[in-house]
Amino acid sequence: MEDCIFCRIVKGELPSSKVYENEKVVAFLDISPVNKGHTLVIAREHHKTMMDLPDDLLKDVIVAAKKVSKAAMDATGAGGISIALSDHEVAGQVVPHAHFHIIPRHKNDGLKLWPQGKYSEGEMKEYAEKIRKSFK
Ligand code: 5GP
Ligand code: ZN
Repeated sequence: MEDCIFCRIVKGELPSSKVYENEKVVAFLDISPVNKGHTLVIAREHHKTMMDLPDDLLKDVIVAAKKVSKAAMDATGAGGISIALSDHEVAGQVVPHAHFHIIPRHKNDGLKLWPQGKYSEGEMKEYAEKIRKSFK
């Protein structure tokens, strides 16, 4: 897509620090890293959200994310990796070209991904049932 910054990075029209690429996927450093080595993994093809990605392409992206995770962990001396993806604007997606965040993690790096809550009596069963019924 012409005005998509990640498509422009894929085409080389915008500079990026690429760390991995293959026929289907490109991975490059996030310009504002949570931790150093924070990498974005995307399909070359433009799809707005993860849910729009065809299954086979999503598999390629996930397999690349695994490779990138291993390399980023080794390269940065991280003890682990957090993988995040904000799908749709409401979830915090800013760039409308689906992307996985690969974030190297260090002991006591202070990153807390999200606060957790509680279900009231019977609510958990209710939500599980609603989700089970929503599969298409
Ligand atoms: P989102 O908030 O959509 O999940 O993540 C978008 C990410 O893209 C952000 O972490 C942001 O720092 C990164 N980003 C935005 N513009 C650019 C850019 O031009 N180059 C690179 N390398 N990263 C970018
Ligand atoms: Zn795009």
